Amino acid sequence: MPQPLCSAHANASDGTRTRHDLSVATAACAALSAGVSVNMRTMRVYLVGGAVRDRLLGLPVRERDWVVVGTTAEELVRLGYEPVGREFPVFLHPVTHEEYALARQERKVGPGYRGFTTQFAPTVTLEEDLRRRDLTINAMAEDENGALIDPYGGKADLAARRLRHVSEAFVEDPVRILRVARFAARFAGLGFRVADETLALMRRIVAAGEARTLVPERIWQETERALAEAHPQVFFETLRACGALTVIFPEINALFGVPQPPRWHPEIDTGVHVMLALTYAAARAAPVAVRFAVLTHDLGKAQTPRADWPSHHRHEEFGVPLIEDLCERLKVPNSHRELAILAARQHTLVHRALELKPATVLTLLEKCDAFRRPERFAELLLACEADARGRTGREDAPYPQVAYLGQALDAAAAVTLSESERRGLEGAEIGEEIRRRRLAAVAAVKARATPEAAP
Ligand code: ATP
Ligand code: MG
Repeated sequence: MPQPLCSAHANASDGTRTRHDLSVATAACAALSAGVSVNMRTMRVYLVGGAVRDRLLGLPVRERDWVVVGTTAEELVRLGYEPVGREFPVFLHPVTHEEYALARQERKVGPGYRGFTTQFAPTVTLEEDLRRRDLTINAMAEDENGALIDPYGGKADLAARRLRHVSEAFVEDPVRILRVARFAARFAGLGFRVADETLALMRRIVAAGEARTLVPERIWQETERALAEAHPQVFFETLRACGALTVIFPEINALFGVPQPPRWHPEIDTGVHVMLALTYAAARAAPVAVRFAVLTHDLGKAQTPRADWPSHHRHEEFGVPLIEDLCERLKVPNSHRELAILAARQHTLVHRALELKPATVLTLLEKCDAFRRPERFAELLLACEADARGRTGREDAPYPQVAYLGQALDAAAAVTLSESERRGLEGAEIGEEIRRRRLAAVAAVKARATPEAAP
């Protein structure tokens, strides 16, 4: 009788047990009501991956991934799971819609992250499935009683704050380079570091040319997520440490070793500066588009002839085609690209805002399309502030440019022409009159902000 089984499980309400039982029970209900027999003895469901890791870390669990052992895709479909995996059999639970994957084993047969054969026999054990995972801290499972299954020492590595590969099979998938760098960026604040032996394997993957097989979509997907993490600079530093940065982001890699004038940049090295700026942007909880703009604002400095070092004349313009190429290559969203190009072009002018003539300030606002897109202009200013403060010893330096340009924009945007003032003016003259008034408004802001500079 299907009914008692379903309600018995649904009514159980004792903590973790309920959570796990429910998934199997609701699926069983679906199958039973469809009149299909279910082999409930062999099929087992385990919570795996980030949910287990994050719970042990005391962090909120954002999503739950499950692995199913001892069954087949056909049986899961019969149980009402919806198959969704393109490359692997992944299923959505009929009620919770959480992801359930069949336990699998992988064998490397060709280059790149698609070069696998995968085995999904119901005989694949949980340990075998966990073994092909990337990091030990991601290779723990929890059974239906909430007991931890940790064959590769994930819990000890959590305690030691160590990002360590599970097995030598780690080298078979170059995506893991990106993932490890991303986890390093996420957990750096908790003191996590990539284990030396794992970094050595990452180097081996790169040396074997495997990083070149990463597809642009995946690189951007991981990069975008890494940019959103608490310590995005660690993502790029980790990629650099294993040699992947030069393959994946050659234009960022090229910034390391390029000197800047110590007077403005006590940290001297352009790559170091960009990492500091990114650190600042993340500390300010800047949106990802701002972080991307910060990452790319100085790309042009790698183009400066050595003879001209440490100055970087026209690096603003030189950076633009590099940003365009990078965005084209990785299919970076347009909105990110636009802000990045704006920041590359305008950051030096924004830094000099308080020295600029009112007419130059107004032109800057116009070039930035600030009247129509004030939010994006604010993002540009935040990127510029990150640039200014991403310098050794300048982290807390005042950056009055933000408030000043904000006031200039507000004052200029508030300018209006009344009906009677418009009367007698031809089309183009209206625009000219508005611009004259905007200029006067900016000049008034400047006079207030820098009274000593007044004529
Ligand atoms: P998040 O909190 O970002 O979701 P997660 O660890 O759950 O972190 P997912 O991308 O959801 O990461 O993947 C779930 C699990 O699948 C991981 O914990 C890991 O065990 C495994 N995994 C995912 N991608 C790979 C990969 N490329 N190589 C090996 N294992 C992987
Ligand atoms: Mg996950």
